[in-house]
Amino acid sequence: LSTTELAAVRADFPLLERTVRGGKPLVYLDSAATSQKPQVVLDAEVDFYEQRNAAVHRGAHQLAEEATEAFEQARAAVAAFVGADEAEIVWQPGATAAINVVAYAFSNATLGRGGDAAERFRLAPGDEIVVTEAEHHANLVPWQELCARTGAVLRWIPVSDDGRLDLTNLDALVTERTRVLAFGHVSNVTGAVAPVATLVAAARRVGALTVLDACQSVPNMPVDLHELGVDFAAFSGHKMLGPTGVGALYGRRELLEAMPPTVTGGSMVEVVTMESTTYAPPPQRFEAGTQMVAQAVGMGCAAQYLDELGMEGVARHETELAAEMLKIADIPGVRVIGPLGADGAGEEISRLAVVSFVVDGVHAHDVGQVLDDKGIAVRVGHHCAQPLHRRFGVAATARASASVYTTVEEVVAFREALAGVRAFFGAE
Ligand code: PMP
Repeated sequence: LSTTELAAVRADFPLLERTVRGGKPLVYLDSAATSQKPQVVLDAEVDFYEQRNAAVHRGAHQLAEEATEAFEQARAAVAAFVGADEAEIVWQPGATAAINVVAYAFSNATLGRGGDAAERFRLAPGDEIVVTEAEHHANLVPWQELCARTGAVLRWIPVSDDGRLDLTNLDALVTERTRVLAFGHVSNVTGAVAPVATLVAAARRVGALTVLDACQSVPNMPVDLHELGVDFAAFSGHKMLGPTGVGALYGRRELLEAMPPTVTGGSMVEVVTMESTTYAPPPQRFEAGTQMVAQAVGMGCAAQYLDELGMEGVARHETELAAEMLKIADIPGVRVIGPLGADGAGEEISRLAVVSFVVDGVHAHDVGQVLDDKGIAVRVGHHCAQPLHRRFGVAATARASASVYTTVEEVVAFREALAGVRAFFGAE
């Protein structure tokens, strides 16, 4: 993004104008946790409540019609943004919920009703689920639980010293026994972009389903789910400039058709008798109960906002910011966890502006506090990826992450503040 474009973008985000810690300008480097929201998204939600608020899909009145139209237009906007068809996008409260919907489909008691196609969702003891050592807990714990319920076995692709996935033994890990290969598109710790094509090809060779955690990619780089060829994908509204409480599950049409629902109740049915129920086709089958309509409208608006900005430009901006952030590796005592350069993955974009690090002799929480005192907001802890932290022998890291509104000047301010951290704590 050019300086003028960036200034215009920043002017769209009211929160970025506020100050913190006694009048210091806010340097918000925690967008991987949740992004800030542009005024148009806030307005879209308020406008929905002020002008169109009604329950969707079932009212006979004008407001219900308008609410339904807004809800479905938002679905279309999100679908277009990620290269999917409308019927392939299911609203969910977030990525965590979306991944759980898929994981629970594999052990659902209603399996019999899906016919032969639903067989894809039947697991036998000894079947295998493959994840990676880099996963966010949201894309790990649901699979562990699935294995515990079904007797399936969890395996994982390890992470190399450089923070990339170690694919050396991929063929031994993804085999005829593999039923699901679930992996993150971009690590929320290291910023590394996964080699999607290689992983999808490995899964396809053995007929395994792929589940992509696209939480960190969709907000920051162009993502075309049809082109990537994954079977399922999950992403959250709040990380892509949209509201909290809404996210999306993408499923290839024929798989959603075959997939048993996990949450059952109103709105996801066709015919209900006292004895039994037939289900609505997707996406409604997976949208039981009153939906988060205002949030969905906000997420649709966020997708349009990003689309108008142009994701190619957003990704270039991210890459530039990543390079600026990675200069912290030159500060004595600072160790970056994960790839230092744009090398390795064989993907066009191989690293985004998410940088986790430790400072010798200083606890991550103290690093966070010193930066916070200067108005610089970073995240500290394990970022819901304990196994990956264990892999690098650390319990906690500090993490800086960027979004469309982040400037190079902010990253420079962060670097300068970080350079003073060890001296502040009297470390050598
Ligand atoms: N996966 C990744 C890579 C994430 O960064 C996050 C959010 N930290 C999630 C999954 C979970 O998303 P949510 O909390 O919005 O459900």
